[in-house]
Amino acid sequence: MIRIGPAGIPLSCKGRTNKDGLVYTKHVLDLNAMEVQFVRGLYIMEDEEAEFMKNFSKEYDMELHVHAPYYINLAGTAEEVDLSFEKIIYSATLADKMGAKTVVIHPGFYSENNPKKTMKKITKNVKKIVNNIKKEKLSVNLGIETMGKQKVFGSLDEIIEICENVNGVIPVVGLGHIHARTNGGLKKREDYELIFDKLKDLKLKDYLIHVTGVLYENGNEYYHVPIKKGDMPINPLIEFLLDNYKMDVTFISESPLVEHDAIYIRLQIEKAIMKRTEREEADYRDLSEII
Ligand SMILES: [Zn+2]
Repeated sequence: MIRIGPAGIPLSCKGRTNKDGLVYTKHVLDLNAMEVQFVRGLYIMEDEEAEFMKNFSKEYDMELHVHAPYYINLAGTAEEVDLSFEKIIYSATLADKMGAKTVVIHPGFYSENNPKKTMKKITKNVKKIVNNIKKEKLSVNLGIETMGKQKVFGSLDEIIEICENVNGVIPVVGLGHIHARTNGGLKKREDYELIFDKLKDLKLKDYLIHVTGVLYENGNEYYHVPIKKGDMPINPLIEFLLDNYKMDVTFISESPLVEHDAIYIRLQIEKAIMKRTEREEADYRDLSEII
């Protein structure tokens, strides 16, 4: 099954609460996922809103995820690690309340440590967080995102290594970040195939994928741009996924044109389905015809 949704409240949604964003994503955009963004220091949600999010998602089959605040450093000083813990557990608590599947985090920075030492530190702290999530009986997965800069911990291989070593942790595949970090490495179907090949051993039930165009230089991301303005084509990925239609994949648009690009992904998928079925309409949620 394919799911698509915006990262945060859609820009064209008049109401500016997460609740408004979710209803709009379902009823106006006709998409079936959303990643709530507790970023830029703002992460407040009343129990009532969380309850609404939970019930609404259940009723309309929407999948929710949560993005914890960006500034997290699980390889930093004791003080930084403590603060990061606080932010993550708080986000996980809210994620649990609204019935979200994943709380997404950025792992941290190498700073003066070498990659190996950073890996050790981050793995140890991720274990602690997962234990904490279990102890608090929060029903949410911890998702660790691939990162788009050389000085930031989080190549695809590093994220996979953590997931292999800590139960209950899943990778969040930030395609724009991988593309930037590999200096434009995602161009062809084989490039995307290699990502899923590497992920295979984790035996994931589903994949959480962030999509955006990205501006980069020398393996470092500058900023996100609309998908069409970047040089990472998504059609080879769509062809690969349609050939592997049994995979459950959720696309979250992290583009500056949030919902516009979520719809763009949807249209590209539907076009590809129509080509295969030789019909004049298609629904991204229904892949049964291409089998
Ligand atoms: Zn992120």
